Amino acid sequence: MKPNSSKKLWKIGSKEYNTQYFDFNKDGDLIIKEGHNIYNVRYLADKMGSPLEILLPFVVEERLEDFLDLNKELSKKVGYQGKFFYHYPMKVNQNKEVVMALVGEGAHLETSSYNDLYLIKKMLEAETFNPNIRILCNGPKTDKYMNLIDELQHKGTKIFPLIEGPSELKFLQHSRYDVGIRLDMPVKAASIWNKPVDRFGFPAKDILEMGKFKNLKILHYHVGSQIETLNDVIGPIKYALDIFFKLKEKNPTLDTLDIGGGMPIPYERTKSYPVEKLMEKIFELLKSEAEKRGVPHPNLICEWGRYIVAPAQITVYKVIDTKKINSKKVDGKKWYVIDGSFMNDLPDTWAIKQKWAIAPVNNKNDKNLNEVWLAGSTCDSDDIYTGVKGSVTLPDYDYDSEQPMYIVVFDTGAYQASLSMQHCLLSSPIKIIAENGHIVVARKRETAEDVGKLFGW
Ligand SMILES: *Cc1c(COP(=O)(O)O)cnc(C)c1O
Repeated sequence: MKPNSSKKLWKIGSKEYNTQYFDFNKDGDLIIKEGHNIYNVRYLADKMGSPLEILLPFVVEERLEDFLDLNKELSKKVGYQGKFFYHYPMKVNQNKEVVMALVGEGAHLETSSYNDLYLIKKMLEAETFNPNIRILCNGPKTDKYMNLIDELQHKGTKIFPLIEGPSELKFLQHSRYDVGIRLDMPVKAASIWNKPVDRFGFPAKDILEMGKFKNLKILHYHVGSQIETLNDVIGPIKYALDIFFKLKEKNPTLDTLDIGGGMPIPYERTKSYPVEKLMEKIFELLKSEAEKRGVPHPNLICEWGRYIVAPAQITVYKVIDTKKINSKKVDGKKWYVIDGSFMNDLPDTWAIKQKWAIAPVNNKNDKNLNEVWLAGSTCDSDDIYTGVKGSVTLPDYDYDSEQPMYIVVFDTGAYQASLSMQHCLLSSPIKIIAENGHIVVARKRETAEDVGKLFGW
Protein backbone atom coordinates (compact mmCIF):
# COMPACT_ATOMS: atom_id res chain seq x y z
CA MET A 1 0.00 0.00 0.00
CA LYS A 2 1.06 3.62 -0.51
CA PRO A 3 2.25 5.19 2.77
CA ASN A 4 -0.57 7.75 2.66
CA SER A 5 -3.37 5.24 2.33
CA SER A 6 -1.81 3.12 5.10
CA LYS A 7 -1.66 6.18 7.33
CA LYS A 8 -5.30 6.95 6.70
CA LEU A 9 -6.51 3.40 7.19
CA TRP A 10 -4.67 2.89 10.47
CA LYS A 11 -5.06 6.51 11.65
CA ILE A 12 -1.32 7.13 11.97
CA GLY A 13 0.11 10.67 12.07
CA SER A 14 -2.94 12.25 13.74
CA LYS A 15 -2.71 14.55 16.73
CA GLU A 16 -6.33 13.88 17.58
CA TYR A 17 -5.48 10.21 18.20
CA ASN A 18 -2.03 10.89 19.70
CA THR A 19 -0.35 9.18 16.73
CA GLN A 20 1.49 12.26 15.49
CA TYR A 21 4.75 10.58 16.58
CA PHE A 22 4.29 7.74 14.07
CA ASP A 23 4.52 7.41 10.30
CA PHE A 24 5.08 4.80 7.58
CA ASN A 25 8.25 5.21 5.50
CA LYS A 26 8.39 4.48 1.77
CA ASP A 27 9.13 0.81 2.44
CA GLY A 28 5.91 0.51 4.43
CA ASP A 29 7.74 0.27 7.78
CA LEU A 30 6.32 1.94 10.87
CA ILE A 31 8.64 4.63 12.20
CA ILE A 32 8.67 6.72 15.39
CA LYS A 33 9.62 10.38 15.07
CA GLU A 34 11.22 12.21 17.98
CA GLY A 35 12.08 15.55 16.37
CA HIS A 36 14.95 14.72 14.00
CA ASN A 37 15.47 11.28 15.50
CA ILE A 38 13.77 8.46 13.65
CA TYR A 39 13.36 4.93 14.97
CA ASN A 40 12.36 2.13 12.59
CA VAL A 41 10.06 -0.20 14.53
CA ARG A 42 10.51 -3.17 12.19
CA TYR A 43 14.28 -2.83 12.53
CA LEU A 44 13.99 -2.67 16.33
CA ALA A 45 11.80 -5.79 16.38
CA ASP A 46 14.28 -7.66 14.14
CA LYS A 47 17.14 -6.66 16.39
CA MET A 48 15.57 -6.97 19.85
CA GLY A 49 13.14 -9.79 19.13
CA SER A 50 9.46 -9.85 20.00
CA PRO A 51 7.23 -9.40 21.96
CA LEU A 52 8.70 -5.95 22.40
CA GLU A 53 7.55 -2.95 24.40
CA ILE A 54 8.87 0.42 23.26
CA LEU A 55 8.57 3.13 25.89
CA LEU A 56 8.83 6.74 24.72
CA PRO A 57 9.67 9.12 27.59
CA PHE A 58 9.68 12.07 25.18
CA VAL A 59 5.96 11.50 24.60
CA VAL A 60 5.31 11.57 28.37
CA GLU A 61 7.30 14.80 28.68
CA GLU A 62 5.64 16.48 25.74
CA ARG A 63 2.14 15.58 26.90
CA LEU A 64 2.70 16.91 30.40
CA GLU A 65 4.41 20.05 29.16
CA ASP A 66 1.51 20.75 26.78
CA PHE A 67 -1.01 20.14 29.56
CA LEU A 68 0.76 22.46 32.02
CA ASP A 69 1.17 25.18 29.37
CA LEU A 70 -2.50 24.87 28.47
CA ASN A 71 -3.56 25.35 32.07
CA LYS A 72 -1.40 28.41 32.48
CA GLU A 73 -2.89 29.91 29.37
CA LEU A 74 -6.48 29.06 30.31
CA SER A 75 -6.23 30.33 33.91
CA LYS A 76 -5.05 33.63 32.53
CA LYS A 77 -7.78 33.77 29.91
CA VAL A 78 -10.53 32.92 32.42
CA GLY A 79 -9.10 35.06 35.23
CA TYR A 80 -8.80 32.08 37.58
CA GLN A 81 -6.59 33.04 40.52
CA GLY A 82 -6.13 29.69 42.29
CA LYS A 83 -3.05 27.53 41.90
CA PHE A 84 -3.02 24.47 39.69
CA PHE A 85 -1.10 21.30 40.68
CA TYR A 86 -0.67 18.21 38.55
CA HIS A 87 -0.13 15.04 40.61
CA TYR A 88 0.84 11.91 38.70
CA PRO A 89 -0.93 8.81 40.12
CA MET A 90 1.94 6.31 40.31
CA LYS A 91 -0.31 3.26 40.04
CA VAL A 92 -0.85 4.03 36.34
CA ASN A 93 2.74 3.20 35.42
CA GLN A 94 5.43 2.84 38.09
CA ASN A 95 8.32 2.29 35.72
CA LYS A 96 11.14 4.53 36.87
CA GLU A 97 11.69 5.97 33.40
CA VAL A 98 8.08 7.20 33.31
CA VAL A 99 8.02 8.66 36.81
CA MET A 100 11.39 10.37 36.35
CA ALA A 101 10.31 11.90 33.03
CA LEU A 102 7.17 13.32 34.66
CA VAL A 103 8.87 14.63 37.78
CA GLY A 104 11.48 16.24 35.54
CA GLU A 105 8.69 18.15 33.79
CA GLY A 106 7.24 19.41 37.07
CA ALA A 107 4.75 16.71 38.06
CA HIS A 108 3.91 16.15 41.72
CA LEU A 109 2.96 12.61 42.76
CA GLU A 110 0.10 10.59 44.19
CA THR A 111 0.69 7.22 45.85
CA SER A 112 -1.69 4.35 46.48
CA SER A 113 0.50 2.14 48.65
CA TYR A 114 3.40 1.95 51.08
CA ASN A 115 5.60 0.60 48.29
CA ASP A 116 4.89 3.60 46.03
CA LEU A 117 5.84 5.93 48.86
CA TYR A 118 8.94 3.90 49.71
CA LEU A 119 10.26 4.50 46.18
CA ILE A 120 9.65 8.23 46.58
CA LYS A 121 11.49 8.24 49.89
CA LYS A 122 14.47 6.60 48.20
CA MET A 123 14.54 9.27 45.49
CA LEU A 124 14.26 12.07 48.05
CA GLU A 125 17.12 10.61 50.09
CA ALA A 126 19.28 10.36 46.97
CA GLU A 127 18.37 14.00 46.24
CA THR A 128 17.13 12.87 42.85
CA PHE A 129 13.75 14.54 43.38
CA ASN A 130 13.19 18.22 44.00
CA PRO A 131 12.63 18.44 47.80
CA ASN A 132 9.65 20.72 47.11
CA ILE A 133 7.76 17.97 45.33
CA ARG A 134 4.24 17.52 46.75
CA ILE A 135 2.97 14.02 47.55
CA LEU A 136 -0.64 12.93 48.01
CA CYS A 137 -1.17 9.62 49.81
CA ASN A 138 -4.31 7.78 48.82
CA GLY A 139 -5.54 4.29 49.59
CA PRO A 140 -6.14 2.57 52.94
CA LYS A 141 -3.20 3.25 55.27
CA THR A 142 -1.59 0.24 56.92
CA ASP A 143 0.55 0.96 59.99
CA LYS A 144 3.64 0.77 57.81
CA TYR A 145 2.21 3.27 55.31
CA MET A 146 1.10 5.61 58.09
CA ASN A 147 4.54 5.46 59.77
CA LEU A 148 6.31 6.31 56.53
CA ILE A 149 3.97 9.27 55.97
CA ASP A 150 4.76 10.42 59.49
CA GLU A 151 8.50 10.00 58.96
CA LEU A 152 8.44 12.07 55.78
CA GLN A 153 6.28 14.76 57.38
CA HIS A 154 8.86 15.09 60.17
CA LYS A 155 11.60 15.47 57.58
CA GLY A 156 9.73 18.41 56.05
CA THR A 157 8.42 16.72 52.89
CA LYS A 158 5.24 18.29 51.52
CA ILE A 159 3.10 15.24 51.98
CA PHE A 160 -0.68 15.15 52.31
CA PRO A 161 -2.41 11.99 53.55
CA LEU A 162 -5.92 11.80 52.10
CA ILE A 163 -8.14 10.41 54.84
CA GLU A 164 -9.95 7.39 53.53
CA GLY A 165 -11.80 5.90 56.52
CA PRO A 166 -12.72 6.30 60.20
CA SER A 167 -9.53 4.84 61.68
CA GLU A 168 -7.39 7.23 59.64
CA LEU A 169 -9.64 10.08 60.67
CA LYS A 170 -8.93 9.33 64.31
CA PHE A 171 -5.18 9.69 63.71
CA LEU A 172 -5.20 12.58 61.30
CA GLN A 173 -8.03 14.94 62.19
CA HIS A 174 -5.86 16.76 64.72
CA SER A 175 -2.53 16.23 62.98
CA ARG A 176 -0.23 19.22 63.09
CA TYR A 177 0.54 18.57 59.43
CA ASP A 178 -1.68 19.23 56.40
CA VAL A 179 -4.25 16.61 55.50
CA GLY A 180 -6.97 16.00 52.94
CA ILE A 181 -10.19 14.02 53.08
CA ARG A 182 -11.84 11.86 50.47
CA LEU A 183 -15.45 12.37 49.52
CA ASP A 184 -17.50 9.38 48.37
CA MET A 185 -18.98 10.88 45.21
CA PRO A 186 -22.67 10.01 44.71
CA VAL A 187 -22.94 11.70 41.28
CA LYS A 188 -22.67 8.86 38.76
CA ALA A 189 -20.58 9.07 35.59
CA ALA A 190 -20.24 6.96 32.46
CA SER A 191 -17.11 4.90 33.23
CA ILE A 192 -16.61 1.16 33.77
CA TRP A 193 -14.97 2.01 37.09
CA ASN A 194 -17.91 4.03 38.40
CA LYS A 195 -19.87 1.44 40.41
CA PRO A 196 -23.39 1.81 41.81
CA VAL A 197 -21.91 1.17 45.26
CA ASP A 198 -18.32 1.90 46.17
CA ARG A 199 -16.19 1.98 49.30
CA PHE A 200 -13.92 4.98 48.94
CA GLY A 201 -13.98 7.94 51.31
CA PHE A 202 -16.90 9.34 53.32
CA PRO A 203 -20.38 10.48 52.26
CA ALA A 204 -20.84 14.27 52.19
CA LYS A 205 -23.19 14.19 55.17
CA ASP A 206 -20.56 12.49 57.36
CA ILE A 207 -17.85 14.93 56.31
CA LEU A 208 -20.02 17.91 57.11
CA GLU A 209 -20.88 16.50 60.52
CA MET A 210 -17.24 15.91 61.52
CA GLY A 211 -15.73 18.19 64.11
CA LYS A 212 -13.23 20.82 63.10
CA PHE A 213 -9.88 19.64 61.70
CA LYS A 214 -6.59 21.08 62.79
CA ASN A 215 -5.14 21.42 59.27
CA LEU A 216 -7.57 20.41 56.56
CA LYS A 217 -6.26 21.53 53.15
CA ILE A 218 -7.75 19.28 50.48
CA LEU A 219 -11.14 17.89 49.56
CA HIS A 220 -10.61 14.95 47.21
CA TYR A 221 -12.74 12.57 45.17
CA HIS A 222 -12.17 10.24 42.23
CA VAL A 223 -15.11 9.18 40.06
CA GLY A 224 -13.44 6.59 37.84
CA SER A 225 -11.16 6.23 34.85
CA GLN A 226 -11.82 6.91 31.14
CA ILE A 227 -14.89 9.10 31.85
CA GLU A 228 -16.88 9.11 28.66
CA THR A 229 -18.52 12.56 28.58
CA LEU A 230 -17.51 16.09 29.52
CA ASN A 231 -20.67 16.58 31.55
CA ASP A 232 -19.79 13.54 33.64
CA VAL A 233 -16.57 15.29 34.66
CA ILE A 234 -18.33 18.60 35.39
CA GLY A 235 -21.31 17.17 37.35
CA PRO A 236 -19.14 15.77 40.18
CA ILE A 237 -17.11 19.00 40.36
CA LYS A 238 -20.32 20.98 40.94
CA TYR A 239 -21.37 18.58 43.68
CA ALA A 240 -17.93 18.64 45.32
CA LEU A 241 -17.69 22.45 45.21
CA ASP A 242 -20.90 22.77 47.17
CA ILE A 243 -19.47 20.49 49.90
CA PHE A 244 -16.12 22.28 49.66
CA PHE A 245 -17.56 25.70 50.49
CA LYS A 246 -19.73 24.32 53.32
CA LEU A 247 -16.74 22.51 54.79
CA LYS A 248 -14.60 25.62 54.49
CA GLU A 249 -16.94 27.54 56.79
CA LYS A 250 -15.83 25.30 59.66
CA ASN A 251 -12.28 24.72 58.32
CA PRO A 252 -10.94 27.96 56.85
CA THR A 253 -7.59 26.26 56.05
CA LEU A 254 -9.33 24.24 53.32
CA ASP A 255 -8.15 25.75 50.04
CA THR A 256 -7.76 22.95 47.45
CA LEU A 257 -10.13 20.75 45.47
CA ASP A 258 -8.62 17.51 44.09
CA ILE A 259 -10.76 16.08 41.27
CA GLY A 260 -8.84 12.79 40.84
CA GLY A 261 -8.30 11.11 37.47
CA GLY A 262 -10.56 10.23 34.56
CA MET A 263 -9.59 12.07 31.35
CA PRO A 264 -10.01 9.49 28.58
CA ILE A 265 -7.72 8.28 25.77
CA PRO A 266 -9.18 7.66 22.28
CA TYR A 267 -8.16 3.98 22.30
CA GLU A 268 -10.87 3.16 19.78
CA ARG A 269 -9.99 6.09 17.53
CA THR A 270 -13.28 7.88 18.01
CA LYS A 271 -13.45 11.53 18.96
CA SER A 272 -13.43 12.46 22.61
CA TYR A 273 -14.19 15.80 24.28
CA PRO A 274 -11.29 18.25 23.91
CA VAL A 275 -9.11 18.84 26.97
CA GLU A 276 -9.06 22.60 26.23
CA LYS A 277 -12.81 22.86 26.51
CA LEU A 278 -12.96 20.79 29.67
CA MET A 279 -10.21 22.71 31.49
CA GLU A 280 -11.69 26.06 30.53
CA LYS A 281 -15.04 24.98 31.95
CA ILE A 282 -13.40 23.77 35.17
CA PHE A 283 -11.53 27.04 35.74
CA GLU A 284 -14.68 29.06 35.00
CA LEU A 285 -16.65 26.97 37.46
CA LEU A 286 -14.10 27.32 40.27
CA LYS A 287 -13.99 31.06 39.71
CA SER A 288 -17.72 31.72 39.46
CA GLU A 289 -18.73 29.49 42.38
CA ALA A 290 -16.11 31.12 44.64
CA GLU A 291 -17.09 34.64 43.60
CA LYS A 292 -20.77 33.92 44.25
CA ARG A 293 -19.79 33.25 47.87
CA GLY A 294 -17.18 35.97 48.13
CA VAL A 295 -14.29 33.60 48.94
CA PRO A 296 -10.91 33.09 47.19
CA HIS A 297 -10.82 30.76 44.17
CA PRO A 298 -9.97 27.21 45.34
CA ASN A 299 -6.68 25.70 44.17
CA LEU A 300 -7.09 22.77 41.81
CA ILE A 301 -5.38 19.37 41.80
CA CYS A 302 -5.80 17.00 38.93
CA GLU A 303 -4.57 13.39 38.94
CA TRP A 304 -4.97 12.33 35.33
CA GLY A 305 -2.77 9.31 34.71
CA ARG A 306 -3.97 7.41 31.69
CA TYR A 307 -4.35 10.59 29.67
CA ILE A 308 -0.69 11.51 30.12
CA VAL A 309 1.06 8.14 29.81
CA ALA A 310 -1.03 5.69 27.72
CA PRO A 311 0.24 6.96 24.32
CA ALA A 312 3.88 6.76 25.47
CA GLN A 313 4.26 3.02 24.92
CA ILE A 314 3.61 0.64 22.04
CA THR A 315 3.76 -3.17 22.10
CA VAL A 316 5.00 -5.15 19.11
CA TYR A 317 4.22 -8.79 18.35
CA LYS A 318 5.19 -11.13 15.55
CA VAL A 319 2.52 -13.11 13.73
CA ILE A 320 3.60 -16.75 13.85
CA ASP A 321 0.71 -18.55 12.24
CA THR A 322 -2.67 -18.12 10.62
CA LYS A 323 -5.80 -20.26 10.45
CA LYS A 324 -9.21 -19.94 8.91
CA ILE A 325 -12.09 -18.98 11.22
CA ASN A 326 -14.80 -21.53 10.65
CA SER A 327 -17.80 -19.42 11.50
CA LYS A 328 -19.87 -17.18 9.29
CA LYS A 329 -21.42 -15.49 12.30
CA VAL A 330 -18.42 -13.29 13.13
CA ASP A 331 -16.58 -10.53 11.26
CA GLY A 332 -13.12 -12.10 11.54
CA LYS A 333 -12.19 -14.37 8.63
CA LYS A 334 -8.78 -15.58 9.84
CA TRP A 335 -6.88 -16.04 13.06
CA TYR A 336 -3.45 -14.49 13.30
CA VAL A 337 -1.56 -16.17 16.13
CA ILE A 338 0.96 -13.85 17.82
CA ASP A 339 4.12 -14.70 19.77
CA GLY A 340 2.87 -13.13 23.04
CA SER A 341 -0.32 -12.95 25.04
CA PHE A 342 -3.14 -10.43 25.36
CA MET A 343 -4.11 -11.85 28.73
CA ASN A 344 -0.57 -11.61 30.09
CA ASP A 345 0.85 -8.43 28.53
CA LEU A 346 -2.34 -6.38 27.95
CA PRO A 347 -4.58 -7.86 30.65
CA ASP A 348 -7.27 -5.19 30.34
CA THR A 349 -8.17 -6.87 27.03
CA TRP A 350 -9.40 -9.74 29.16
CA ALA A 351 -10.37 -8.00 32.41
CA ILE A 352 -12.53 -5.17 31.10
CA LYS A 353 -12.76 -5.89 27.33
CA GLN A 354 -10.46 -2.94 26.64
CA LYS A 355 -10.02 -2.13 22.95
CA TRP A 356 -6.77 -1.10 21.28
CA ALA A 357 -5.83 0.41 17.94
CA ILE A 358 -3.66 -2.07 16.02
CA ALA A 359 -1.63 -1.55 12.83
CA PRO A 360 0.99 -3.45 10.83
CA VAL A 361 4.63 -2.65 11.58
CA ASN A 362 5.71 -3.70 8.09
CA ASN A 363 3.35 -3.78 5.16
CA LYS A 364 5.45 -3.34 2.06
CA ASN A 365 3.43 -3.78 -1.12
CA ASP A 366 0.62 -5.49 0.70
CA LYS A 367 -2.54 -4.76 -1.17
CA ASN A 368 -4.46 -7.71 0.22
CA LEU A 369 -6.13 -6.83 3.49
CA ASN A 370 -7.71 -9.35 5.81
CA GLU A 371 -10.27 -9.03 8.57
CA VAL A 372 -8.67 -11.00 11.36
CA TRP A 373 -8.98 -12.01 14.97
CA LEU A 374 -5.77 -12.13 16.96
CA ALA A 375 -4.90 -15.13 19.11
CA GLY A 376 -2.39 -15.02 21.97
CA SER A 377 0.10 -17.81 22.64
CA THR A 378 -1.35 -19.11 25.89
CA CYS A 379 -3.66 -22.10 25.78
CA ASP A 380 -6.51 -20.01 27.21
CA SER A 381 -9.64 -19.59 25.09
CA ASP A 382 -9.96 -16.05 26.49
CA ASP A 383 -6.54 -15.05 25.14
CA ILE A 384 -7.84 -13.37 21.98
CA TYR A 385 -8.45 -9.89 20.64
CA THR A 386 -11.34 -9.32 18.26
CA GLY A 387 -10.83 -5.65 17.40
CA VAL A 388 -12.76 -2.44 17.88
CA LYS A 389 -15.32 -3.15 15.16
CA GLY A 390 -15.44 -6.92 15.55
CA SER A 391 -12.21 -7.61 13.66
CA VAL A 392 -8.79 -6.09 13.00
CA THR A 393 -7.79 -5.04 9.47
CA LEU A 394 -4.27 -6.28 8.64
CA PRO A 395 -2.26 -7.17 5.54
CA ASP A 396 -2.08 -10.73 4.31
CA TYR A 397 0.21 -13.01 6.26
CA ASP A 398 2.32 -15.30 4.13
CA TYR A 399 4.23 -17.86 6.16
CA ASP A 400 6.39 -18.70 3.16
CA SER A 401 7.66 -15.13 3.00
CA GLU A 402 11.25 -14.34 3.98
CA GLN A 403 9.92 -11.28 5.82
CA PRO A 404 8.50 -11.69 9.32
CA MET A 405 5.20 -9.92 9.90
CA TYR A 406 4.97 -7.67 12.95
CA ILE A 407 1.96 -5.86 14.36
CA VAL A 408 1.81 -2.96 16.80
CA VAL A 409 -0.65 -2.23 19.61
CA PHE A 410 -0.86 1.48 20.47
CA ASP A 411 -1.46 3.28 23.79
CA THR A 412 -0.16 0.46 26.02
CA GLY A 413 1.53 2.81 28.53
CA ALA A 414 -1.17 2.86 31.20
CA TYR A 415 -1.88 0.17 33.83
CA GLN A 416 -0.82 -2.93 31.84
CA ALA A 417 2.69 -3.37 33.29
CA SER A 418 1.71 -3.80 36.93
CA LEU A 419 -1.38 -5.87 36.08
CA SER A 420 0.53 -8.27 33.80
CA MET A 421 0.84 -11.99 34.56
CA GLN A 422 2.61 -15.25 33.67
CA HIS A 423 -0.18 -17.49 32.44
CA CYS A 424 1.34 -20.61 30.82
CA LEU A 425 4.70 -19.30 32.08
CA LEU A 426 5.22 -17.11 29.03
CA SER A 427 7.96 -14.50 29.45
CA SER A 428 6.99 -10.84 29.65
CA PRO A 429 8.03 -8.73 26.63
CA ILE A 430 11.45 -7.09 26.56
CA LYS A 431 11.08 -3.35 27.32
CA ILE A 432 13.25 -0.82 25.52
CA ILE A 433 13.46 2.95 25.83
CA ALA A 434 13.80 5.15 22.75
CA GLU A 435 15.08 8.60 23.65
CA ASN A 436 17.44 11.23 22.19
CA GLY A 437 18.19 8.97 19.24
CA HIS A 438 19.37 6.12 21.48
CA ILE A 439 17.89 2.76 22.38
CA VAL A 440 18.38 1.41 25.88
CA VAL A 441 17.20 -1.96 27.16
CA ALA A 442 15.19 -1.15 30.30
CA ARG A 443 14.00 -4.68 31.18
CA LYS A 444 15.56 -7.76 29.55
CA ARG A 445 13.37 -10.51 28.26
CA GLU A 446 12.72 -12.99 31.06
CA THR A 447 14.50 -16.30 30.63
CA ALA A 448 12.90 -19.65 31.52
CA GLU A 449 15.08 -19.57 34.66
CA ASP A 450 13.72 -16.12 35.63
CA VAL A 451 10.11 -17.19 35.24
CA GLY A 452 10.73 -20.51 36.97
CA LYS A 453 12.17 -18.71 40.00
CA LEU A 454 8.91 -16.85 40.54
CA PHE A 455 7.33 -20.24 41.19
CA GLY A 456 10.01 -21.71 43.42
CA TRP A 457 12.04 -23.60 40.78
C1 LIG B 1 -6.63 5.43 39.37
C2 LIG B 1 -6.68 6.76 39.97
C3 LIG B 1 -6.29 7.91 39.24
C4 LIG B 1 -5.90 7.86 37.78
O1 LIG B 1 -6.99 7.72 36.94
P1 LIG B 1 -6.86 7.92 35.36
O2 LIG B 1 -8.17 7.55 34.83
O3 LIG B 1 -5.75 7.04 34.91
O4 LIG B 1 -6.57 9.35 35.12
C5 LIG B 1 -6.28 9.12 39.89
N1 LIG B 1 -6.66 9.23 41.18
C6 LIG B 1 -7.06 8.16 41.91
C7 LIG B 1 -7.47 8.35 43.31
C8 LIG B 1 -7.10 6.90 41.32
O5 LIG B 1 -7.52 5.86 42.04
